[in-house]
Amino acid sequence: MILDLSLPEMEEYVKNLGEPKFRAKQLFEACYLFKNLDEISNLPKSFKEKIKDEYFSYEIVAHLKSKDETEKIAIKFPDGSIVESVLLKYKYGYTVCVSTQVGCRMGCKFCASTLNGLKRNLSAGEILAQVLYFNKILGGNLKERKVTNIVLMGCGEPLDNYENVTKFLRLVSSEDGINISQRNISLSTCGIVPQIYKLADDGFSVTLTISLHAPNDELRKTIMPIANVYKIQDILKACDYYFSKTGRRICFEYSLISNVNVKDEIIEQLADILKGKTCLVNLIPLNSVKEKNLVGATRKNAYQICEKLTKLGINATVRRTMGEDIEGACGQLRNRIGGENV
Ligand code: SAH
Repeated sequence: MILDLSLPEMEEYVKNLGEPKFRAKQLFEACYLFKNLDEISNLPKSFKEKIKDEYFSYEIVAHLKSKDETEKIAIKFPDGSIVESVLLKYKYGYTVCVSTQVGCRMGCKFCASTLNGLKRNLSAGEILAQVLYFNKILGGNLKERKVTNIVLMGCGEPLDNYENVTKFLRLVSSEDGINISQRNISLSTCGIVPQIYKLADDGFSVTLTISLHAPNDELRKTIMPIANVYKIQDILKACDYYFSKTGRRICFEYSLISNVNVKDEIIEQLADILKGKTCLVNLIPLNSVKEKNLVGATRKNAYQICEKLTKLGINATVRRTMGEDIEGACGQLRNRIGGENV
């Protein structure tokens, strides 16, 4: 797929088609403006004919707009796979939340993305397409981009699709393209330890976000199967390493689930294991997913927990809820639209 290519790779591709080099730049720009092939006016028909199988195609099968200006799309690729992406409006700009896999195989008990397992990985270009789509509908272009931030927090586990996700990070932060700095990108993971080291060693500097959700392995195992593979202490060591390499503050996501991980002594244990680290705890009352019988804590309870953590010396915030009226939580929209076959 053409969006998988960097500008130098596109030059190579165009050269192999026997076309002049300047066509590569024209093609690259058309891709990043997310034009359909028939919308591109500066490329000859004969050239378009040669590239049409490699050119991207997609269908937006749902587009929901929330009262709070959050927008959510379900995007369908030619093989029928559907993923979700979300646009969030903040004071400083627009954030796009992208999916990295079709489905997910991590099996977290509270997450809708994993209900039907993993169908396949997304390619770098398919992840990029989600950003370019929103940049286009916001009226942005390459000089004046509207999307300012990206979070890899949609369907899928980014570090379970390492090669494509890191290629995407290179493409999206490249000066040739949409040029979104890695400082403005957050990658969220359930904690695949070796890949955290690899990300640091490969020179990436995105904000690392760990879906922790529990302060001890016993409890974590009851909600996140990956806890049977990697211990919290090993995740924290990997985070220290990532911090030492990048200087980037680590963020820990903690979804608040009534009667599971919100008791005083559990929150105290959370403060204990994070004490002294340069980090932020992001508290999110669980979004109830109808297929799962786990219930989110109230926002009032979330603020109490936030205060408790702060008193214990841990930076904490309560995540703003956005787009609740449009099935904002991971995987919900995709499941409703596509059933089991997406
Ligand atoms: N696989 C990655 C990224 C995807 S999910 C990860 O595990 O981090 C992004 C965040 O939303 C994760 O912290 C995930 O645990 C959380 N999440 C998933 N379902 C949720 C729900 N129903 N309510 C609240 N948070 C949820």
